[in-house]
Amino acid sequence: MSSVTLENVVKYYYPAVGAADSKPVKGLNNINMRIAEGETVSVVGPSGCGKSTLLKVIAGLEFADEGRVLYNDFDVTKITPQDRGVGMVFQDYALYPTKEGKNNMSYYFEVHHRSAEEKEQRLRETSELMGIGFDMLMGRQVDTLSGGEKQRVGIARAIVREPNVFLMDEPISNLDAKLRERTRTEIRRLLKKFGITTLYVTHDQQEAIFMGDRIAVMRAGSLEQIGTFDELYYAPANLFVATLIGTPPISILPGELAHGTLRAAGQTELALPEQLSGGLPQGSLRLGVRPEGWLVAREPEPGSLAMNVTRIERLFTERAAFAHGDVNGAPVNALVPLDFPDAKMLYLRPDWERAYIFAADAETALHVPGVPELF
Ligand code: ADP
Ligand code: MG
Repeated sequence: MSSVTLENVVKYYYPAVGAADSKPVKGLNNINMRIAEGETVSVVGPSGCGKSTLLKVIAGLEFADEGRVLYNDFDVTKITPQDRGVGMVFQDYALYPTKEGKNNMSYYFEVHHRSAEEKEQRLRETSELMGIGFDMLMGRQVDTLSGGEKQRVGIARAIVREPNVFLMDEPISNLDAKLRERTRTEIRRLLKKFGITTLYVTHDQQEAIFMGDRIAVMRAGSLEQIGTFDELYYAPANLFVATLIGTPPISILPGELAHGTLRAAGQTELALPEQLSGGLPQGSLRLGVRPEGWLVAREPEPGSLAMNVTRIERLFTERAAFAHGDVNGAPVNALVPLDFPDAKMLYLRPDWERAYIFAADAETALHVPGVPELF
């Protein structure tokens, strides 16, 4: 098992000869990250942002044009995938459909001329790791298995060879919603049990949060931020990360700051606490408030924002509800008590301890609440 380090990794994709736009595309733009031994990092970002390219460069299926890839302290930048010892699982499984689960798993030992004893021992150990009922799947031909079962065989095939690094690229995005939820719980359990250094790629924010010890957020070939859920939630590097992490999302209101007073959503003058306004530039900026960061009232109060409520989403397990709507056209979500009447209007004040401030024209975070000390 290895830690994985990427140092200033750049990967270009070159257009086909004679293509109209002949500029190379930066698939990866100067990526720096380190995944600790045994850690699971999930990689999330919109389609085309470079998630698969990142995995391929770590696996050696693509080579970095600049920078280095290290497994522990060992430079693997120019080493082939066969010699890196990676286990990979993709969306389309890539199993041999006419072979049994067991033969899909043992194939590796045969092509590498490993002893029959080693093969049998690893198959046994892996079957035990995979849990109850897995030995049954090993005996069945792959094309008779369901999507979820194929996924389990795919995972077993990747770990039977004791990889240094385990790479998964949107492994469950083909499954239907219900099965996806069950399978992700199963995969998370297995990852904890294996303790293998893992990168888990998904375009689904919730899945990324669920799977990763830390989450790497990518956009347009760049790593925007890597951190724990709390770090991304309470201390996002920019507006992109702030809006990606959190359900329902953070509300963003345009504002104008002058002499400690913020005119928000073209509507209300909010007096900012001294310690907050002191560090901010005058003029246009954006105020961000998460659903739990609003102080909510039924009647207007001085310095409150009037919210049109369009929908109440009840959260019975939390004894609370989300009110969805807008403040002067800007979408807003607020957490309200469950026994709150079905109001058409609510009056909101930001809890300044929980407020976020972003630049108006760039996405830079100018102020974030920071990770709270919970215990
Ligand atoms: P993701 O997995 O996040 O959806 P990819 O890593 O597959 O994104 O792709 C990142 C970018 O690189 C995209 O713009 C994609 O079109 C481009 N790209 C990926 N593979 C190739 C390739 N083999 N040739 C040219 N461009 C590619
Ligand atoms: Mg991809």
